[in-house]
Amino acid sequence: MNKPLNPQNFAHIFFAGRTRVTLKNEAKDTHVRLKIKEKKERVNGKMVGTGRFFVYTSILNDGDTGWDFAATFFSDSKNYRLGQKHSQGSQVDRIMSFVSKALKTPSILSQKGAGVYHEGRCCRCAMPLTHPDSIVLGVGPDCLEHMGPNFFRTLLPVI
Ligand SMILES: [Zn+2]
Repeated sequence: MNKPLNPQNFAHIFFAGRTRVTLKNEAKDTHVRLKIKEKKERVNGKMVGTGRFFVYTSILNDGDTGWDFAATFFSDSKNYRLGQKHSQGSQVDRIMSFVSKALKTPSILSQKGAGVYHEGRCCRCAMPLTHPDSIVLGVGPDCLEHMGPNFFRTLLPVI
C-alpha cells in the first residue's frame, strides 16, 4: 500500500531513522524504492544516531528481495558517498544525485513530476500506521513529537 506524502517533508521523512519511501515519476510511470536506516552507536550505554544514513535501493519492484546498498547519506550536508559497488555516473549514482538535490530543494520533486510515497509504516520506528491522520503524515503519534518544528502536518500537494 503506497500512501502519498507531502513532498516538502521529504528530508524529514528521509532522515527520520527507519523509513521506506518510493519516488514515482507519474508521467513516465517509473519508480524507485528507497530503504533508509540511520547508523546508531552506543554512547554511555545508550544508542544514539550518528547522522549517517545507509540507503538501499530496489529499482525493480520485486518485493522484499533485491535491496541493494546504494550510498551513505549525511544528514548535515545532505550529500552522499556512493557505495563501492557502484560507479560514478551509474544509474544508482544518478538516482542518489537526484535524491540529494531533492533533500536540499524539495521543489525539484514537483518540477520533475515526482511523487513521494510511504508503505504504511512509521518513518521513524517502522511500526504499522493505523490512524488515518498518521497515514497521511507517515509518522505515528509518539514519533511525531520528534519530527521537529518544520515538519508539515498537512498534505500540501503544491510546492
Ligand atoms: Zn513511530
